[in-house]
Amino acid sequence: MSSRRYVLLGVADDGVFSRLKAEIEGLPNVEVIRGLSIGDFDGVSLAVFPTGVRYSGVPVSEVPTIVKKHLEGDKTVDQRFDGSVLPSTILPSRQKRIVLERVGVIDPESIDEYIESGGYEALKKALNEMSPADVIEEVKASGLRGRGGAGFPTGLKWEFTAKSEGKMRFVIANADESEPGTFKDRVIEEGDPHRLIEGVLIAGYAVGASQGYIFVRGEHSLAIERLKKAIADAKERSFIGENILDTGFSFDIRLVPSAGGYICGEETALIEALEGKRGQPRPKPPYPPQKGLWNQPTLVNNVETLANVPSIIMKGANWYRSFGTESSPGTKVYSVLGNTVHTGLFEAPMGITLRELVFDYGGGLKDGEFRAALVGGAAGGFIADLDTKLDFEGVKEKGGMLGSGAVLVLSDKADAIGVLLSIARFFKRESCGKCVPCRVGTQIITDIMTRVYNGNCTRKDLDVMLDIAYNMKLTSFCPLGQSVHLPVKTALEIFRADFESRCGD
Ligand code: SF4
Repeated sequence: MSSRRYVLLGVADDGVFSRLKAEIEGLPNVEVIRGLSIGDFDGVSLAVFPTGVRYSGVPVSEVPTIVKKHLEGDKTVDQRFDGSVLPSTILPSRQKRIVLERVGVIDPESIDEYIESGGYEALKKALNEMSPADVIEEVKASGLRGRGGAGFPTGLKWEFTAKSEGKMRFVIANADESEPGTFKDRVIEEGDPHRLIEGVLIAGYAVGASQGYIFVRGEHSLAIERLKKAIADAKERSFIGENILDTGFSFDIRLVPSAGGYICGEETALIEALEGKRGQPRPKPPYPPQKGLWNQPTLVNNVETLANVPSIIMKGANWYRSFGTESSPGTKVYSVLGNTVHTGLFEAPMGITLRELVFDYGGGLKDGEFRAALVGGAAGGFIADLDTKLDFEGVKEKGGMLGSGAVLVLSDKADAIGVLLSIARFFKRESCGKCVPCRVGTQIITDIMTRVYNGNCTRKDLDVMLDIAYNMKLTSFCPLGQSVHLPVKTALEIFRADFESRCGD
């Protein structure tokens, strides 16, 4: 990484950004990087490196003072200095960053910075020193599991794809992130797009594919912009294309923005959409590793999953297994939101407790006492036990699912009924309509929840709602309809008294 001095900005600071750009013009060795609010530091406006001095809540009018005093005069500007200095790697002490290690640290639009910080070394190692089977074995040994929600062993999926017969094979990075409360993949794409590209390339080599796709959420315009540039730069440097780095391996990557629809995050619906059809799930089996895109063997992996791969190849499976738990090794990028003091992304070893996430990383409750957390996004479950271990098994043991790692924290002052109503509305709106249990069930549950919210329900409504959600779990065609049961069931377990207080007999 270059030794120049730079200022990192929160992504939302448009006014501050343009003013800074104007003010630093002519200053030697100073650059402004439009970075990200990377969690733990809610409200950060900018940080100046290499010192790491952080200024919070900077209005546009104070930008000239900061430039003059700090960048020209090397003095900290007291009135906006929030009293803390970010370490040069921006690693909050308790986080363990693997997939986010460069986010906010390098300029995401510079392939040079990616390469200088060790980027594409894993690809070189895989292509020059390992056979495809070696790569698969390493990923299998690492114990990496899918970070999109299901937690399926990644190496096994790669092996199935590699062994399936077909005219050609494909790799798809599922970047159609739209689970409410989840924004980890977007941050990886915006903050370190080459890491994702490197993960796709290594996966392509391992499974014998020649074409990759990044199917990205259409609304994530900054991510699309940066991924486009990163793909073009990687092509220019011969990391993508024919005979990559003179190794004989050829692989192309196309970026495809999704037209929208939560269901397109389901891998077979995603494949339908990529083929130009309406995004609706296919019956399974056959699974994509057997018959996916254009009926050919296809590996579909989540962005966070693929972003783990370069580090596993570089540092080895044993290193990766030194984090997390036996059955869920590595780290997880948790998105924390709701009533905590700090909200944002925290990358931490798998298996930390909900208590640690809420109090150590999230800084505790903003207002009131902890009541419960919705773990796993809208398709997850409410959990009241703060000692729950946040890994695939730990959350499952408590009747929930880790899902994408979104954790919505509710204090005793939060409106749990309003939360469940918006979840019901979300599923109703996103149901693709293919099967009756989900199409009709989501409508009925929304109607009942609207009545509960308005205090116009009976206690029997609550049982009917639970019964319908249970039947949806048993009979819906795909995970969308099947997953409505979990938030409904766990909300009624924890908040039943609140619900009943709004209902008549
Ligand atoms: Fe579509 Fe819902 Fe049926 Fe899935 S469960 S196929 S989203 S209607």
